[in-house]
Amino acid sequence: VKQRFVRARGLHFPSPIFSEFDYFDDAILHIDNGYVKRFDAAQLFLNDGLHEDACEHHPEMLLLPGLIDAHVHFPQVEIIASFGDQLLDWLQHYTFPEEAKFADEPYARAAAVEFVDLLLAHGTTTAFTYATSHRHSADVLFEAAYAKSMRLVAGKVMMDRNAPSDLIDSLATGKADSEYLIKKWHGRGRLGYAVTPRFAGTSTEQQLQSAADLAAAYPDIWVQTHLSENLAELDWLRSLYRDFQDYFSLYERAGLATPRSVFGHCIHLSDNELARLAETGGIAAFCPSSNLFLGSGLFPLVAIRDKGIPIAIGTDVGAGTSLSMISTLGDAYRVCQLQSFSLDPLEAFYMATMGNARVLHLDDRIGNFCAGKEADFVLLNPSRNSQVASRVNTCQQIRDELFCYMILGDERLIEQTSVSGHVQFQQEPV
Ligand SMILES: [Zn+2]
Repeated sequence: VKQRFVRARGLHFPSPIFSEFDYFDDAILHIDNGYVKRFDAAQLFLNDGLHEDACEHHPEMLLLPGLIDAHVHFPQVEIIASFGDQLLDWLQHYTFPEEAKFADEPYARAAAVEFVDLLLAHGTTTAFTYATSHRHSADVLFEAAYAKSMRLVAGKVMMDRNAPSDLIDSLATGKADSEYLIKKWHGRGRLGYAVTPRFAGTSTEQQLQSAADLAAAYPDIWVQTHLSENLAELDWLRSLYRDFQDYFSLYERAGLATPRSVFGHCIHLSDNELARLAETGGIAAFCPSSNLFLGSGLFPLVAIRDKGIPIAIGTDVGAGTSLSMISTLGDAYRVCQLQSFSLDPLEAFYMATMGNARVLHLDDRIGNFCAGKEADFVLLNPSRNSQVASRVNTCQQIRDELFCYMILGDERLIEQTSVSGHVQFQQEPV
């Protein structure tokens, strides 16, 4: 039985209320065979007879639960920072040509292995991921995550119209390939499947319905898609659907509005759409870096939260400009500031850990250091960035320290990432 005692400063959110966080200047996380056994003040362990020498001791570092990315496209790492376009042109000019390369299985496999390593280097231990429309693109991603024992949810993109012919599936193959992947991967190791119609613009109504049929047939899988990202997109959909009522209704009437549906963006929804989203229990995925980069608009966090809609947060790479959830939280702060709301850094780090776990229905497994949770965690090292280190020295409270990380920091602060108790990323010594 593999035991680890990791001693550092430590923070987690044991409950759904972010202000009820647990922070210790000197904490120990005890890992027993891949699971959290206990997380508490170090002194209590030492009082109970634990010897100091049994601990991996990092007194200056901050121990956090593994970060969770609720929305990311693994085939788009190579198109981060592509110039000039907003959503619809960006898809045509950059996304589709890159995703077409994934027809080549060795290319897809190499990208998948690299993507998983990149997630871990960014401190991300769980991600909800879009593959391409090729069935094998999801296969190779699941294989790469399985090799690292990661908890990862992914799906093959379903897309049966309005895309280049080499990327389009059909009503029949989109459903059959998705079902093949569900049977092969969902529930295997720590993997899960999300039925993934890209969005209403690239799926026919029939395909949206077939995705909903799968979600109904396999009730513990997820659904992920995009919703109301960009105003030109909204105009286009209005012309594409003859009896267009509003954007959300396209998913609602197909049967895709479920409590396990993750809707990327949700920027331009009407009050009526928000009320219906709240009723169905669907999840809004806030992707601030992407929304700023593509000029899509400002996610109305307060209005969405006030309606009782569960909010997740994600990078949306490649429209998002970084796989770092830390810098994504900084972008979330900026997006909220533009709407006269100052996002509390404790709430931000809650969202990237326990909050995402909770709204994505994974909080019985991950999200914090409560006993029995899967031991996914990161060590954050402020001294990796001299500016961060000196600024953090002026902070009196953990809240102020977290704010420095999200505004000044990024993945370069991640010293070590562990998955199921095993170190899967370790930065080179200074
Ligand atoms: Zn996206």
